[in-house]
Formats: sequence, structure tokens, C-alpha cells
Amino acid sequence: MHTFAFERARDSAHAIQTASAATTAQQGAEVRFLAGGTTVLDLMKLDVEQPARLVDLAGLGLDQIEPTGDGGLRIGAMVRNADLAHDARVQRDYPVLSQALLAGASGQLRNMATTGGNLLQRTRCVYFRDTRMPCNKREPGTGCPAQDGFNRNLAILGTSEHCIASNPSDMNVALAALDARIHVQGPAGERVIAMNEFHVQPGDTPHQETVLAPGDLITHVVLPAPAAGAGACYLKLRDRASYEFALASAAVVAHVAQGRLAQIRIALGGVGTVPWRARLAEAALQGQAPTEQALRAAADQELAAARPREGNRFKIELARRCLIQAVLRAIDTAEKTPEVA
Ligand SMILES: Cc1cc2nc3c(=O)[nH]c(=O)nc-3n(C[C@H](O)[C@H](O)[C@H](O)COP(=O)(O)OP(=O)(O)OC[C@H]3O[C@@H](n4cnc5c(N)ncnc54)[C@H](O)[C@@H]3O)c2cc1C
Repeated sequence: MHTFAFERARDSAHAIQTASAATTAQQGAEVRFLAGGTTVLDLMKLDVEQPARLVDLAGLGLDQIEPTGDGGLRIGAMVRNADLAHDARVQRDYPVLSQALLAGASGQLRNMATTGGNLLQRTRCVYFRDTRMPCNKREPGTGCPAQDGFNRNLAILGTSEHCIASNPSDMNVALAALDARIHVQGPAGERVIAMNEFHVQPGDTPHQETVLAPGDLITHVVLPAPAAGAGACYLKLRDRASYEFALASAAVVAHVAQGRLAQIRIALGGVGTVPWRARLAEAALQGQAPTEQALRAAADQELAAARPREGNRFKIELARRCLIQAVLRAIDTAEKTPEVA
């Protein structure tokens, strides 16, 4: 591990100013914000990241969960994953988020991990995490051995010839299905980014993972008001029952009226280079009765764009089953209006 300076941010302006002052070729690489540290300290120990300075966000007071004026929920960037998962309002109104958080990592990690840090956690691709190996994400232009190498846990959607790293977060999948909005303060002022526009697919710039600019500080995440009567499910499929990243996961929020899917939102995890909003499957299911045939056709439409590699071809069928099962489980928990005679 390299020597680094450590600084406690006095307030948001100080944090942003310190981070945006970095002027290396890889913009912003010099300074990292420190939240729970469960990603950034790991990567520093592995030498994958070598920031010259860590700016601790602990004193900024971004650790509140508060209702918004229009019935939604505002989640501070420093709210711990455990506190968010166990918050009574989250469990009642956004169960898909609570389920996703509790499916992630371990109790100890969830006690440290924060909302902002989870949004920005990095891929578990073994080539990215091993500095002896080439990796376009870590070192642009060096190559992507994952394409023909060990890719069992990597992406099949949104990939490119330069990178197939999967986004490993469970929380992100739920936030995608919930249409969350990410509030950011940066050198250029404040802005709000839709969750589904926050992460970017690798294309030919896999080192660029989000739309954030150097110095941008995530301050909070806002969830829109929950719609009454919706059913929800986060289903995570993995190699062992706990303390393991998803091979495939699905977050579903569904409204059922007269036996049909009046509204449905689906996001997939473990299979995309970004948290994958399954808009094609949603469109196919909108207004439909959730028959086995309709569900399978919707999943097929979403997965038609999948580009698997040798070691993760199995993920197409796994993701298909995961999506279908999650929709069925979400429907089970939805309030049902009576069928029209
Ligand atoms: C062994 C292990 C198993 C795990 N298993 C899972 C799992 O199954 N599912 C899962 O989803 N996750 C899993 N994780 C990942 C874990 O959820 C993340 O490490 C955690 O959420 C990161 O949050 P943090 O607060 O610790 O982030 P940090 O490590 O503090 O920060 C991560 C990154 O975010 C930046 N950052 C943090 N806060 C802000 C902010 N407010 N504004 C701008 N930038 C910010 C930091 O600069 C850094 O680059 C696992 C981790 C470990 C170590």
C-alpha cells in the first residue's frame, strides 16, 4: 500500500474543493472520498487504486433518512446499508430495497458500507483486481483478458470488446427499479441524475464508469413516493447462499389490477455492465396477464441483446428464470383488485 494523506472534510464545499483540485492525467485519481472504506481501502491494499489523498466524509452529516414533501424518501449518502435496510419506512414502502441490501455482503460490511459508496463500488472482475494482469478499466489500452478468460461472474448485457466487467451491487439494482434520483454537488454546482443514467456502459472507455466528474460529491438519493398496493421482490442467485455476489439477480416492483400487470418495473443485476433496467421486458408485460408464456416472452425480449462469452453463457437461462421468478414473487405480494366479471 502506498503512503497517502488523510483529511477530514469540514463541510461539503471543503470536500469538493479538495477533490476537484486533483490534476493528474487520470482526472480525480489523486483524491478519493472515504465513506465506509469497504471498497476503496480494499482496492488500495491491492494496489488497484493509489490515491495520494483520502478525504473522509464522516463529519458531513449526510446520514439521515427523511421523508420528502411529496411522499418520497431522501437517503443521505452516508446512511449505512444496515441502517437503510432496517429502516421501518424502507421495509414498508420500498421492500425491494431492503431485500437487496440484506442480500449483499455480510452484517459487518453492511454496518460500514454507505449508500454513496455502494453506488460507486467497483467490479469484482479478477483481472481488474489483479495488477499483474492487463485490464482496460484499470489501465486503458492494455487489453481485456476476461473476454476469453475467467468470465463466469461477468456481464452478458452492455458489454464491449474492451470490457465485460459486471456491476456487482445489489442495492443499485433495487434503486434502478425504484427510479431513484442521485443528488450530486460538484465544482459546477448541484445536479440530479436519474439512477438509470448514472452508470455508463464501457464502450471503448471502460475506465469511465459513471457520469460523475472529478470533485463530484453524492449528497443524497431520493426515492419517489411509493405507489400503494405494489408488490415487490429482489431475487438473487449466486454460488452460495450468503456472502457472495450475484450471478444473476432481479428487482421487481409490480402493480396488479384485474389480473393484469397495470405497471411493472424490472431491473437485473449480475448480468449487466451497469445496473440493468429491463425496459423491453417491462414493455412486453405492461397490461398483460402474467402467464408463463407472457413472462417467458418478456424475458426473451430483454435477453435477446445478450452477448455471452464461453464461461458465462449459462447466465442467459439463469437471468431468464430469475426475472420470471422475481415477477411471480412480486405479484404474490401485490394487493389484488377484484377481477372484472
Ligand atoms: C468481502 C465483500 C463482499 C461484498 N459483497 C457484496 C455483495 O454481495 N453485494 C453488494 O452489493 N456489495 C458487496 N460488497 C461491496 C460493498 O457493498 C461495498 O464495498 C460498499 O457498499 C461500498 O461502500 P463504502 O461506504 O464502504 O464505500 P467506500 O469504499 O468508502 O467508497 C467507495 C467509492 O465511492 C466513493 N464515494 C463514497 N462516498 C461517496 C460520496 N458521497 N460521493 C462521491 N463519492 C463517494 C469513494 O471515493 C470510493 O471511490 C462486498 C464487499 C466486500 C469487501
